[in-house]
Amino acid sequence: MSLHIQNISRSFGTFRALDNVSLDVPTGGLIALLGPSGSGKTTLLRIIAGLETPDTGVVHAEEEDVTTRPAQERNFGFVFQHYALFRHMSVFENIAFALRVRSWKQKAVEERVRELLHLVRLDGLGQRLPSQLSGGQRQRVALARALAARPRLLLLDEPFGALDARVRLELRQWLRNLHDEMQVTTIFVTHDQEEAFSVADRVVLMNQGRIEQVGTPEEVFENPASAFVMDFLGNVNVFRGRARSGIADLGGWNVHVPDYAHADDRPVRAFIRPHELEIVRTHDASTLPARVVHLHRSGALTRVHLQRLDDDSPLLVELSPSLRDDLRLSPGEVIGVTARKVRVFEPEDYCI
Ligand code: ADP
Ligand code: MG
Repeated sequence: MSLHIQNISRSFGTFRALDNVSLDVPTGGLIALLGPSGSGKTTLLRIIAGLETPDTGVVHAEEEDVTTRPAQERNFGFVFQHYALFRHMSVFENIAFALRVRSWKQKAVEERVRELLHLVRLDGLGQRLPSQLSGGQRQRVALARALAARPRLLLLDEPFGALDARVRLELRQWLRNLHDEMQVTTIFVTHDQEEAFSVADRVVLMNQGRIEQVGTPEEVFENPASAFVMDFLGNVNVFRGRARSGIADLGGWNVHVPDYAHADDRPVRAFIRPHELEIVRTHDASTLPARVVHLHRSGALTRVHLQRLDDDSPLLVELSPSLRDDLRLSPGEVIGVTARKVRVFEPEDYCI
């Protein structure tokens, strides 16, 4: 089933939690809503689920307008972080619940639950109580319950948020495989960039009740539509300066900014990711002098923490193993920094 959201707004009192949000989710897609806490992700998911009504706007499931349809008539499955299992019911009965309320026959219930237990890799654990399972297993039961009645759409709100890091990693991979197997259209909410990137086909970046950008993980990372997206998606070095005739002067350091070829002294902020900075041992107007503070290995990469000589502000550069071996940096040394890639946004874009 495809989902079409048009011009949805929702306020709580005078606070605008969603501000004119439109989004299309294609059939079989796995899309992540990614944004900081309070950006409106849960509100949007609850509106899609039918647990909340929008002030304005419409939600279509395929061609059907479901905006005012009660949740139980939509046949969407959901798993919320705090949507706990029924504590006094066995795993089997928890999963069977959605089928019993739909008056499935006992034999069909048994067959479907067995199939789902297998799907979520919990074969043979149907008679346990939720308290006899690990956190990861419990969330898999919650997912099996959400899938029981073959929903047209699966809605997941930070489903792994309460689990520890190792289990989260496993479940991400597992969810991705499960989705590929079942092809059910899925919307996955998270505030964790890595989780969104590793699970989803497309990522929807939300900020202050609005959608900032929609794209594949590669697209939003490589071509961030705004300063918010650039900054939200990980470590980034931020420089202030002025752009004029294709050159940005970032405090005695000149970088090329072709988009500003015709600019006449505009205030800008330049964003450069750590792996897009280079360290050189030459000094001229195109290099920024900085002192090496310390080096630190992170997986295959080496993170070099630097301090600008002019204003003491910190910079972060990431080096590949071969660059690290070529450079042989030592703490205290003064080097020059150049940029391989610079993205420039004007300060008014910048609102985090
Ligand atoms: P997210 O899931 O991205 O963290 P939410 O959708 O939960 O964000 O919330 C967005 C904003 O709307 C938050 O500032 C939150 O406090 C506010 N909000 C959400 N639900 C309600 C509510 N029922 N009453 C009042 N404010 C709410
Ligand atoms: Mg939320």
